[in-house]
Amino acid sequence: MEISFYDFQNLHNEEFRKEIKEIIGEIIDNNAFAEGEYNHKFEKDFAKMQGANYCALVGNGTDAIEISLEVLGIGHGDKVGVPGITFYATIEAILNRGATPVYIDINPEDGLICPESTKRMVEAHDLKAIIPVHIYGLPAPIAELEAVCNPKGVKIIEDSAQAQGTFLPSGPVGSTNNMSTFSFYPTKNLAAFGDAGAVLVPSEELYKKIKTIGNHGRGDDAMYGRNSRCDHIQAAVLYKKLEKIEEYNKSRKEVATLYHQNLEGSKVKTLPTKYLQTSSWHLYPVQCESAEVRESLANLLSEKGVSTTPFYAEALSEMTPFKGHEGEDEKAKAFAGRTLCLPISAFTTKEQIEYICNIIKSV
Ligand SMILES: *Cc1c(COP(=O)(O)O)cnc(C)c1O
Repeated sequence: MEISFYDFQNLHNEEFRKEIKEIIGEIIDNNAFAEGEYNHKFEKDFAKMQGANYCALVGNGTDAIEISLEVLGIGHGDKVGVPGITFYATIEAILNRGATPVYIDINPEDGLICPESTKRMVEAHDLKAIIPVHIYGLPAPIAELEAVCNPKGVKIIEDSAQAQGTFLPSGPVGSTNNMSTFSFYPTKNLAAFGDAGAVLVPSEELYKKIKTIGNHGRGDDAMYGRNSRCDHIQAAVLYKKLEKIEEYNKSRKEVATLYHQNLEGSKVKTLPTKYLQTSSWHLYPVQCESAEVRESLANLLSEKGVSTTPFYAEALSEMTPFKGHEGEDEKAKAFAGRTLCLPISAFTTKEQIEYICNIIKSV
């Protein structure tokens, strides 16, 4: 059975294609390319879905983090904490600002940032901000991090690129007082036909500042800016896809639950069941005994037609461009390389899950 890692076929089905082609035709007829009504409609509805006051669309998820650091006044000479298990973009944004990353270790159960390590790094390094990541779609322990950071004035930017539809104990990701950044890269749960990103913010002032920076600093409060706009066509695709995101995220939870059930008694370790209802299940990672076991399992699955990915094969601190920064990374290093992500989408079938889990249980 051939099972691909992403399922664009079902996501972009005939009905969706027909509707989106009509909208794109409208945009071409109106010559409204850079920003238009769909940007505003999406900003309003996405903010509502995530329980945020404002949503500011920008060019991509990396810019969303970079611009968030900028509006907080963080740049050259400032230290920013980053967890060791994340996608390159999180640390790139820090380095692009001229700031210095400090590694914060993770919780070995789930790969999320560890509050105790955060406390040690905040105290040892005079951090100006931390960027917890809702990795795989799991909710990071924001309340625990706030308890560490708020009294010391350390800012929190939540990298929510994988967390459209994720729930914290207090509400959806985006509903806190922190800035939350999103990516709508084509493989994310909610995705454009190319690059797009957003920052969810609690105040109109922050919203306006982000929009001004992303549009070359133009406007009433002219300032030094950059180009980080979201194309009207991408905003229209996102607006159209918003109609189905809750239904699709619900399916992902069902897929994750079935995986959990079918993997019981196997040699791989699944994520804690407490996340079954709160994660967006952007990815479905399992932990293998060792890097060697991971590789042989990935090869076996590949021989049987199943695509997997080793997110993340290395901790950030082990990657050539990001070596040599201070911080804690022991648990992140142990976690990386043992993780194998199995195919998950809103359309993964029971038969596919059983096929994959039987292969895993055969070893
Ligand atoms: C996708 C992603 C980003 C941002 O990606 P862009 O490609 O810039 O849109 C940032 N952080 C994480 C954790 C991601 O998965």
